[in-house]
Amino acid sequence: MYQSFIGLEVHIHLLTKTKVFCGCAAAFGDEPNTHVCPVCLGYPGVLPALNIEAMRMGCTVARSLNCRIPSQTWFERKQYFYPDMTKNYQISQFASPLGQEGYMDLEGKGIRRRVRIRECHLEEDAGKMIHTGTVSLLDYNRAGVSLLEIVTEPDMETGEEAELFIRQLRRLVRYLGVCDGNMEEGSLRADANISINLPGKGLGRKVEIKNLNSSRFVRLGLNYEILRQSALLDQGKAVVQETRLWNENRDQTEPMRQKENAQDYRYFPEPDLPVFIPDAAFLRSVEEALIEAPQDRIRRLQEEYGLSEEQAELVADEKAEADYFEEAAAAAMARGLEKSAASQRICHWLLSDIRHILAREGIPIAAIGTLKLNPRRLAALVVLSAGGQVSGKNAKQAAELVLSGDRDPEDIIREQGWERITDPARIADVVQAVYADEGKIFAEIRSALTGGRDKRGQTLKAYLVGRVLERTGGRADPKIAESRIEELIAGR
Ligand code: ADP
Ligand code: ZN
Ligand code: MG
Repeated sequence: MYQSFIGLEVHIHLLTKTKVFCGCAAAFGDEPNTHVCPVCLGYPGVLPALNIEAMRMGCTVARSLNCRIPSQTWFERKQYFYPDMTKNYQISQFASPLGQEGYMDLEGKGIRRRVRIRECHLEEDAGKMIHTGTVSLLDYNRAGVSLLEIVTEPDMETGEEAELFIRQLRRLVRYLGVCDGNMEEGSLRADANISINLPGKGLGRKVEIKNLNSSRFVRLGLNYEILRQSALLDQGKAVVQETRLWNENRDQTEPMRQKENAQDYRYFPEPDLPVFIPDAAFLRSVEEALIEAPQDRIRRLQEEYGLSEEQAELVADEKAEADYFEEAAAAAMARGLEKSAASQRICHWLLSDIRHILAREGIPIAAIGTLKLNPRRLAALVVLSAGGQVSGKNAKQAAELVLSGDRDPEDIIREQGWERITDPARIADVVQAVYADEGKIFAEIRSALTGGRDKRGQTLKAYLVGRVLERTGGRADPKIAESRIEELIAGR
């Protein structure tokens, strides 16, 4: 058995309106080369200017990852040639990145591990190359878009841990509202580094799997590498230090380029940008942007509301849904429903009916706040059905009418006449009417020695309750109906 070491480099697109060093819109999917200017096209002699919003978002992520923000942070030029980068250097950070020495705790799926964060640094993205047949096209709309790179220490050991790291980080940046986390579209992408060695021998020679655009591929690629590298060492061969790519069609990693020595990028401080010295006001604005971390919230939903780990993970996967849950639970409790009943009922609504509605309407979970069935209205429905004032079926029908009509459930239930009938005298009248039709059945139950407590008797009684419900459009309280039926059977 070998020991494995995994370190991740994750790039996230920050949701700044404009690019990081110029005023061009940071927009995707538009006509190629429509959001460009001399700065992001790298014309000679132009001056970059730092987008403070990008710096703030970057520092917010860094602080959420328990990083220290240095008293001075600056930019360097990272020099290399590539056609998608017109300046022949990328403005990045090297000696004093905006976030340093933090950590993230992995929790869940049987995993508990602290992963140290080496640094978070702000940089500009490159343009996009589009290869079509014999020509290559270049779109510079993406050139200069704010990119935050998060680099971990090689503290993980399995593909599963790395996958969890990506999922937790994705959830965090979405909670913070600084990145949409869309991996397929490249808003969050990862390079995974892995080496193996005999236990106690320290790091091995690393292989980098580049440009992974799903957390699943991170797991699959890394676990594939652990097996491939183990087989090499078993045969007495050495692992070649190289960059590989995950081939999702063949479920394997394949060599991309060899990287014997670290490339020399000739980093030097960017002379056109001043050193950034975060002042008290800036630091305050960063602290104000911090939110309860998703992992803390998942834990709190279990402790405070008694949700199971699975329920809490699902409800709090999106901040908007966790907010909705807590608002609805508070509203239901304010109407007198006990906490654990309120929590369970709301959780069930969220994870079944409301998920279903969102999927049907094509609304992302993050936009749950736009539903006409808002937390207050859901709470009303939950309280009414918990108290037996409306049947479960009618509550669901009412929910649909709330959605289509933008009105309160109490009004809808009253108008539709869906209020539960709980008046014993009214129910007794209906039971009497059923008795007139179904006298034989009453007689059969009565004649049975068990007085209707046997299986057949139960079935027949349920049938009679069903008839009462039928006659009242499902509105009669079934418990009251049943006890009146039993009284009749007993001859009272
Ligand atoms: P490079 O100089 O090749 O960019 P770095 O030291 O900057 O390498 O590390 C890049 C990433 O690779 C980090 O996430 C780090 O944790 C990881 N890493 C570095 N060395 C190893 C190794 N031997 N095995 C596994 N991961 C490693
Ligand atoms: Zn520009
Ligand atoms: Mg490096």
